[in-house]
Amino acid sequence: MKCSICIHTSKTKKIINKNGKVFCIDCLNFLKYPPNFELMKKEVEEILHNLKKSEGRYHCILAFSGGKDSVLALKLLKEKFKLNPLCVMVDNNYISKEAIENALKITKYYEVDLMILNRDYTDLFEDAIRRGESPCRRCSKLILREVWRVAKMLNMKYIITGHELPFGHSAIRKMKEGVEMIRLLAPYKIKEEEKYKMLKNLPWKKPNLGGYTTNCLVLGVALERFYEKYGFSFEVDRVATLVRFGLLSKEKAEEVLKKPDIPEEVYKELRRRGLNI
Ligand SMILES: [Zn+2]
Repeated sequence: MKCSICIHTSKTKKIINKNGKVFCIDCLNFLKYPPNFELMKKEVEEILHNLKKSEGRYHCILAFSGGKDSVLALKLLKEKFKLNPLCVMVDNNYISKEAIENALKITKYYEVDLMILNRDYTDLFEDAIRRGESPCRRCSKLILREVWRVAKMLNMKYIITGHELPFGHSAIRKMKEGVEMIRLLAPYKIKEEEKYKMLKNLPWKKPNLGGYTTNCLVLGVALERFYEKYGFSFEVDRVATLVRFGLLSKEKAEEVLKKPDIPEEVYKELRRRGLNI
């Protein structure tokens, strides 16, 4: 049984037959309590317009990865909101060379400062890959903690991220000690093809890494191992939400959720960087 709205099947989600139509439980919830994107936009824009009046060298922190979404967030901050963020990038030892090049080029283009923190998440990734689990949640938690530390050190309240999905019904979430996180792309519902169009005239090039990523070297391999173990992608929930929100076509989603084809160079590069796989 397949959901009539997203791409979930009975293999990945509870499916319910309602008045002769088939929905997954997440789509049913979505229909019952649809998120108000206009309200989300209003909340975010009010904060960002007020930030413009704030003093100090930077208006906010941007959690930056060199991937397409954080680059789009930078574009919005600079062009739409006329803000000067400090871009903070955590290089966990497995950011692709192309993503770092993209990060350097694009921050230079927008004349914003880039802080790169060097860390090593080899243990985390080896552990996740060995178990056939997704490393994404643990990795992004560690990265956000680093970015939060920078925000505290510089006494800044707002951390902007390039996440495209909201936290439930809001794009804003309170973190510890008065810091708040804003998922800047969430209220704008920018479609996948639209994103690439928006990046077209910027000094940014899409790397070929396998999986649905433009910066992470590990994701493709982690997806591959998970797929071998469970027979589906651990990104299925996120991708289903993208389809539900109209950000990704079903066809593209099916493609993204297939077992990824990892270029041999990615494997070589991972081993060269110390990942024992
Ligand atoms: Zn569904």
